[in-house]
Amino acid sequence: MIEAFACPLCGGTSFNAEITLKDRIMRTSDALFLLARCLDCGLLRLHPQPDGVALAGAYPDEYAPHVRKGISGWAKSALERRSARLLAEHLAEPRRVLDVGCATGDLLLAIRSRGNPDVTGVETSAAAVAVARERGLNIVEGEIFDAGFPAGAFDTVLISHTLEHVPDPLVFMREVQRVLSPDGAVILWLPNAGSVERRVFGRFWIGYDAPRHLTTFTVGTLGSLLRSAGFQIEEVRHEVIGLEWAWGLRLLLREWLPTLEGIMRRLHPVLILLFTPAAMLSARLRRSGRIRVVAARRESTLV
Ligand SMILES: [Zn+2]
Repeated sequence: MIEAFACPLCGGTSFNAEITLKDRIMRTSDALFLLARCLDCGLLRLHPQPDGVALAGAYPDEYAPHVRKGISGWAKSALERRSARLLAEHLAEPRRVLDVGCATGDLLLAIRSRGNPDVTGVETSAAAVAVARERGLNIVEGEIFDAGFPAGAFDTVLISHTLEHVPDPLVFMREVQRVLSPDGAVILWLPNAGSVERRVFGRFWIGYDAPRHLTTFTVGTLGSLLRSAGFQIEEVRHEVIGLEWAWGLRLLLREWLPTLEGIMRRLHPVLILLFTPAAMLSARLRRSGRIRVVAARRESTLV
């Protein structure tokens, strides 16, 4: 048992230490972070939560989602164009689309290039905001709470690899629910702690990404959160992500055989391809390390 605090999802006050983590990906510090599991609802959360100063240092200028360059920038754009096509039902005109945590705006650009000009982004990184605005996008810099959007201002809200970064996910999702129209929907992309990849790689699983990921969800804990915030899950898609396996191997080698990791870094795209069958299997088992969830807004039951 560890020092008591209130679970932001269920209010429970009993936790177990799940695993000790450090920043293995960006290596911004040697600090250790404890991931705690709520004994009532199973929510996984860093405890104590890193403060603002620690978090500012955890997002260096080269943090990949905040910049856009080279082959990874190209691959990201290609993936976003695919998402925009597959999710046209939620993203095509006349849906008013908001992307919270839009980074450099790739997904918004993909939606706009398919003919829907009504796209807005929210992003905390000034560097990412600058890139997105240069690309002609309408971006609010800051948190969703800073934006002052009227109730019902949007029909679809996108939350791509953002929910795990926000300090209070329930308060955040309730704000998302408020800015959605009555028949609105939210689409989330996030890591899945109930995955084969987490089992295989343990503390080297990329989905932990401490200290940037403040909360780590399973399909179960995400479902509870969404219900509490006034949403109903309609679809959970387990994505095929060879990158999870390539990174898992690299982070493991980084600790035990750093020279070999140097070689693997250059082979990263090849590793992704080699591991794609494993990623396909975990997706087939509906236990992929990354999921995409579509949830419909319900009328709020809050008083
Ligand atoms: Zn809980």
